[in-house]
Amino acid sequence: MRSKKFAEQDLRRTSPISKLTIMSHFTHKSQACVNGKRRPGENSPAHGRMDAFRGKRTVNPSTHPAPSPLLAKKTPSSPPLDVTKERLFRELGYAAPHEPLEEALREAGLSRPDKGRIALAKRERVREILEERFVRVCARGDCQREAVELEGVLPAATSAQCDLCGGSPVERLAERVARRCLEQGVHRVCVVGGSPIYRARLNELLGKQLTLRLVDGKANRDLTQAEADLAWADRLLISGPSMLSHKVSQLYRPMPGKTVLVKRRGLRHMLEALQGP
Ligand SMILES: [Zn+2]
Repeated sequence: MRSKKFAEQDLRRTSPISKLTIMSHFTHKSQACVNGKRRPGENSPAHGRMDAFRGKRTVNPSTHPAPSPLLAKKTPSSPPLDVTKERLFRELGYAAPHEPLEEALREAGLSRPDKGRIALAKRERVREILEERFVRVCARGDCQREAVELEGVLPAATSAQCDLCGGSPVERLAERVARRCLEQGVHRVCVVGGSPIYRARLNELLGKQLTLRLVDGKANRDLTQAEADLAWADRLLISGPSMLSHKVSQLYRPMPGKTVLVKRRGLRHMLEALQGP
């Protein structure tokens, strides 16, 4: 009895979510709510609590077999199946305005702008679509300057979600990346694509530690040059989403362990990709 009493006190102190969790523990033990009449969470916490304690005396185990642990786990949580789009956008790192995001989801056939909620099952697909099209940028001066060169820029919900700095100066990341490259024997790095400012910035950040070849993704390039780049580089990055014509990118055949396709925009993603697998 002593432990139950303490547990009950705990229930009063805890948040609604943990209340439910603890309640479900008792419910499972006592089998009070498993015969289909009442689902945990439907009634007030007080009611549920009473049932949980009463249950042990009133339910006959021979007529009410214990639920399988799997079932007992599923019943109490009943996670929501959808979420407001506003909340999902914020979770994924996008501050308002959200209209461009709505438009992207509409075009992808995932949701209409007049719908306030979206199924959580679509979360990953939403994330992918938005990451392909938009760059989240925080208010830091460096990031804002870099953003001028980019398309699809939207304000990041938090600086940690900024695609350009990830909430910390990109210099620190660049140092770490250069160190890792050298540890892996990667000294010569070729980057195909990216804006002129981008390339200048890469040079500033990595030019001292690594030998860089930065190829303009919009310039004329032929297969011989591309093959020479592949032969020269220890690692070759192809900046997928921006400032790269298809004509140029298709010259570079994939070479596992050497070529890396960077699908997301922003210097930080480029640097992270450079670290290799
Ligand atoms: Zn930033």
